[in-house]
This record gives sequence, C-alpha cells and structure tokens, in this order.
Amino acid sequence: MIFTETRGNDGSRDARVGFASALLSPVASFGGIYSPEPLAPLPPDFLRQHLGSSYQQMALALLQYLGIDIDLSILREALALYDCFDDPDDPVPVVKIGEKLFVAELYHGPTRAFKDMALQPFGLILSRLAQQHNRQYLILTATSGDTGPAALETFRDRANIRVACLYPDGGTSDVQRLQMVTEAAGNLKVIGIRGNFDDAQAALKSLLSSQRFNQRLRELGVSLSAANSVNFGRIIFQLLYHFHAYLALARQREIALGDEVVLHIPSGNFGNALGAYYAHRLGLPIARIVIASNANNVLTEWIESGRYDLSKRDLIATTSPAMDILKSSNVERVLFDLYGAVRTRELMGRLDEQGWYQLDPAEHARIGSIFAADFCSDTESMQFIRQAFAGGYLLDPHTATCFKSCRRPEFTDRVNLIYSTAEWTKFAPTVDQAINGGQRQPDRAALAAVATTAGIEVPAVIAGLFDKPIAHPDIVDRQAIESRILEFLESKT
Ligand SMILES: *Cc1c(COP(=O)(O)O)cnc(C)c1O
Repeated sequence: MIFTETRGNDGSRDARVGFASALLSPVASFGGIYSPEPLAPLPPDFLRQHLGSSYQQMALALLQYLGIDIDLSILREALALYDCFDDPDDPVPVVKIGEKLFVAELYHGPTRAFKDMALQPFGLILSRLAQQHNRQYLILTATSGDTGPAALETFRDRANIRVACLYPDGGTSDVQRLQMVTEAAGNLKVIGIRGNFDDAQAALKSLLSSQRFNQRLRELGVSLSAANSVNFGRIIFQLLYHFHAYLALARQREIALGDEVVLHIPSGNFGNALGAYYAHRLGLPIARIVIASNANNVLTEWIESGRYDLSKRDLIATTSPAMDILKSSNVERVLFDLYGAVRTRELMGRLDEQGWYQLDPAEHARIGSIFAADFCSDTESMQFIRQAFAGGYLLDPHTATCFKSCRRPEFTDRVNLIYSTAEWTKFAPTVDQAINGGQRQPDRAALAAVATTAGIEVPAVIAGLFDKPIAHPDIVDRQAIESRILEFLESKT
C-alpha cells in the first residue's frame, strides 16, 4: 500500500510513503494528508473464501492483500485485541431489527463506543513501531467525549508512549469524564480545563506552537504524534468491519454473495464512511453509502448539492455530540481519490480561504453515484429511539440518526445495514428521556432508569465507574497546561 499526498508534494518531504510512515508522520505538504493510491478490486473470490473465516482471519488476509508494511507478528497481536470484546468470536454482532433492516454494533469494545474498533489495534502498532525505532512519543489529544477514553484505554501501560489528554470540565458526560479520570497508569495524564471544548482545543494548539514546549520535548528526546481520526493507522481498521458485516449477512442467508446492500453511517469526521468508501473501491457490493448527520448537516448539503459550505454555519450542540463537526477532515480523501491532488488542493484552498466550495456537475454526479445523505433533528432522533425501543431494540442518539434514511422508498427493496457507533450507556440521559419521558437526569440516575424500564443490567464496566478512585483530579486554567504536561514528562524520563 503506497500513500501520496492529497494536495501534492512541496519537495520538503517524501512524495510516496508506506503505511508505517503515514502512520508515524501523518502531516503532508500544503496542509494535506497522506492517502492511498487508487485501490484495485480484490480477487473476485475473496468474499466466498472468507465465508467461514473468523473476523481476525478475514482481517489479516485483507491487510496482507493491501500490503501493509508492518511485521506479521505485530499485525496478529493487534488483531488479537478484538478478543477482549464482549464476544471474541463475533466482535461486531449484526442484529436483525426489521424486514431487510439490520444493525452492525461497533461498540462492544472496552469503552463502549466505535472508537475502540480502530484505536485498540492502532495503539498497539504505534507502540511497537516506537519500540522498533527506539523513540519516545507523546500523544496530545483534546476530547469532547469518545476519543479521549478510547485513546487512554489503548495506550495504557504501552511502551514508549505517553498520552496527555485535555477535556473541558463540564463539557463531557459523567460517564465519559469518569472513563478518563479513573484511568490510572504512569504513562497517562488527564487534565480538565476550565472552559469549553474550543478552549481545550485552543490550549492544545498554543502548546504545539510554544517554543519553550518544543525545545523541552527535544531535550527530553520526545517526539509528538497524533491519534486523531485523520491518521490512516485508524482508517485501515475501519475498512475491515464493513467486509465482516457483509459476510455476516451472507452467513445469516439474508443476502447472496454479490447482492448490493445499503449502508447507513452516523458521521462526524467521515472516518467510518471513508472506510466504507474504500471497501466499495475494493469491490464490496455496496449500492449506496448513506451519510447520516444531526442538525450540523453540512455533509447532507454537500452530497445533495455538491456545495461544501461552512460560511453561514455555527456549530450546534446536539444530543449526538460525537457528530457535532462542521469540517469533516476525511472528506478530503474522497476528493483526492475521485479528482486527484491538483483539484483537491484547489477545492480545499477555497474552503480554507472563503469558507465554501462548489463541485462542478460532473464531479457532483460521481459523489451521488456512491453516496446519499440525510439528517435528523434531536426531536426526530428521540422519536426513533422510542420507536425502536417499542420494537425491542435499545439504541443511542448517534445510531438513531440513521433511522430516517433507512426507510426511504428507494432503498426498501434492498437489505439496509445501520452502523451503531455507541452503546446506550454512553448517552443514558437522552435515552432515558426518549423512553421514559420527564426531566433530563444525570448519568447515574438515567442509567438506572433505563435499565429498569428495559429490564436489563447496566454493564459492569459502566456501573463500576462511579466507585472507581479518581486518578486524575486536576482541573486547571488554560495557562497552566504547559507546565503540567512538562512536569508529567519530566517525572519519569
Ligand atoms: C466518532 C463517532 C462518530 C463519528 O464517526 P466519524 O468516523 O468521525 O464520522 C459517530 N458516533 C460516535 C458515537 C462516535 O464516537
């Protein structure tokens, strides 16, 4: 697998790199990112060959076909982390919830959200590469919810890696905050910031540009790396489960091999959908990839009109916060794959300078032949949670955004597959309101109320959080971040 830069090469770095290099140094020329050269379809019998394979067997074969320059033993070790999911034989259950309607549950990992699918193997590979190169890495991350817990969980006690994670105090759910501040390990530092998510991101940005900070990192022999959703080391693992889900439908005899299915994906930064796009390029029979959004429906507009427009929008806080994103970083890779680097640089330049770009009709037609889109308001999402629960299925507000598009008449003669990106426990206050009504309750009360109504237990990993000791009590002002992180790095090096 060879990677080139989405906006072309400026001569100061390699124009063509392998997977390991794209993972370790994801920043490319002109503000672009590394993206794979066009993928050739898999051998036609790939799906048939893997009808009887486990998730890990199929995944390993796919990664080997793609030509990932990571030692086989490390790939095996990385994929073996799916053994820690609820059911080692089936890390991504595909559940039937209606006529021609299925849910692929991506949340059965340790932090109960889809981020584990990619961050679990990614964390292991980054640590092993750091050991091979004898380098120390610092992962800096600002989180509003799901990425922080999943990043801390994957890097906990991993060699040659430290993580500093900033979160806005009061800006996450109780469950998300507890998942972070109770992660006790010497290589992890979690700091609450007085302010909102923008303040946390701004603090991170000023840290990255601070001379004193960068100087000190060099003296300590620590390099910066990123675990954000643009890193291809995460995207690669978001390709695999689309094949798995398709094979699961075939095993359940709901489709015959070759039948085209419609995928519905709750989308934010477009990483999950990008994995589906590459799966389609590799020949997986997909009729449409439907991008589901909340009220921040910039992607709906883009797919329906060819216009990507940030200029008249402010971010809206919704009940599906992991999708509260306006600039979806991974869209750039679709532009690159369809229109090439010169055009991608032009379009992304317009977006940066004037806040919008418009695809021409031929370009827009290519988007429309692969993608479709829809969005839900918070009120609609709550209704979908209530309706699904009445039919016996419990789901979270992110997953709920798919329930409008999956009933579109043009899709009803095909099998529709919804991706569920979080367990209900991560967003219990909204789920409680949807199925029980009444006032919004704090997480702990909401978890108990939903569990009672549904006649289920709150999973132990979530219920146990409320009694776990707090390992990271720090809540500080923005200005104090730099010295706190330096103290953390100096403490053990
Ligand atoms: C991250 C996340 C999403 C959005 O996924 P992208 O790959 O960024 O589009 C949706 N739902 C949940 C619960 C998430 O954590």
